Amino acid sequence: MLDAPLIKTPECSSDAAEDAQHRNLIGMSRDEIRDALAGLSLEPFRAKQLWNWLYVRGVRSFDAMSNMSKPTRAMLAEHFAIDRAEIREDALSEDGTRKWLLGFGDKNEVETVFIPEADRGTLCISSQVGCTLACTFCHTGTQKLVRNLSAGEIVGQVLTARDELGEWNTKEDGRKVTNIVFMGMGEPLFNYDHVARACELLTDGDGVALSKRKVTISTSGVVPRIYQMADELGVNLAISLHAVRNELRNEIVPINRKWPLEELLPALHYYAEKFPSRRILIEYVMLKDVNDSESDAYALVDLMRGLPVKVNLIPFNPWPGSPYECSSNNRIHKFADILAAHHISVPIRRTRGQDILAACGQLKSQSERKRGQKVKLH
Ligand code: SAH
Ligand code: SF4
Repeated sequence: MLDAPLIKTPECSSDAAEDAQHRNLIGMSRDEIRDALAGLSLEPFRAKQLWNWLYVRGVRSFDAMSNMSKPTRAMLAEHFAIDRAEIREDALSEDGTRKWLLGFGDKNEVETVFIPEADRGTLCISSQVGCTLACTFCHTGTQKLVRNLSAGEIVGQVLTARDELGEWNTKEDGRKVTNIVFMGMGEPLFNYDHVARACELLTDGDGVALSKRKVTISTSGVVPRIYQMADELGVNLAISLHAVRNELRNEIVPINRKWPLEELLPALHYYAEKFPSRRILIEYVMLKDVNDSESDAYALVDLMRGLPVKVNLIPFNPWPGSPYECSSNNRIHKFADILAAHHISVPIRRTRGQDILAACGQLKSQSERKRGQKVKLH
């Protein structure tokens, strides 16, 4: 059941909202663009120029492509589109975190969050509208409406952030979005093909040109796809672990019933062997009196033995109606101390953007909130 959720999946290269005549260029691979242009008798160097306009200059109209003749621009506009989602909301937190609610042509919406820090800027992007999984501590998991995002819709979130942050044409050291994490709405490995395509586009050296080390996919544990990701993608891996015993993990991260810890751990060892110089990020949400005891911390140390990991302790972010409380500061630090004493790097995630419901696990599209009257915002 969990393996193949029955949700609508757009074609890999196309956008859900595009019309038949105007194919969205955002989301197409370089080869697809080259072939499509060849079909219009345009030479391969045009594809290169186009790529540069789309992913280095960030233009949104064919008219801006000044190194193309007027008839060429007209021909492109006749066949293609440069689609971005519509920004339905733009919220700025007191701490500088920014959240955009993005709407697609079919009325679906996702959220994208930018988290500026002293030494980096992390963009947290969504891979699905909602999520088919139902981790008990996660707001997104309560959203009923679910569909996969196309590669164009995933990449489009990064392009929109660059539009809004005004960072096209900036040198690498002046960039605001330096890291991408698939930690927004959805389970990225249940939308593997589009997420893989999006990673390919975002790490293309002639385009957005992010290093694979700066892109992280977070998964609740879709084991077969973790192996595939290790073999094919080479981006960073983050695992939403949250519990060290099957009994509890079955309850709070229900995908564990399909792929329990004894199947998840070998996949992590496989990843670590494939990328020996990287560390796997282990995410662990701190739930008061649920998973935060000292014996949980010791069990975590045992489970991680032999794996190059960094354990990120995430203070639980409440959402309206959520059934948990966050562990006390004292408890979180005690837990961290036990891991640190066993030489595990253990940053405690600082909660960001809570005032605009942009923190981890608080994302849920506005339209869904309005529809689902159960959820009260204030
Ligand atoms: N579906 C993927 C990625 C999105 S969730 C995954 O589960 O990994 C991103 C991270 O936020 C995950 O580690 C998730 O467990 C965590 N999270 C979800 N709800 C949370 C909450 N209410 N408080 C803190 N972290 C939460
Ligand atoms: Fe889905 Fe991740 Fe939320 Fe679980 S934590 S419901 S997998 S988005």
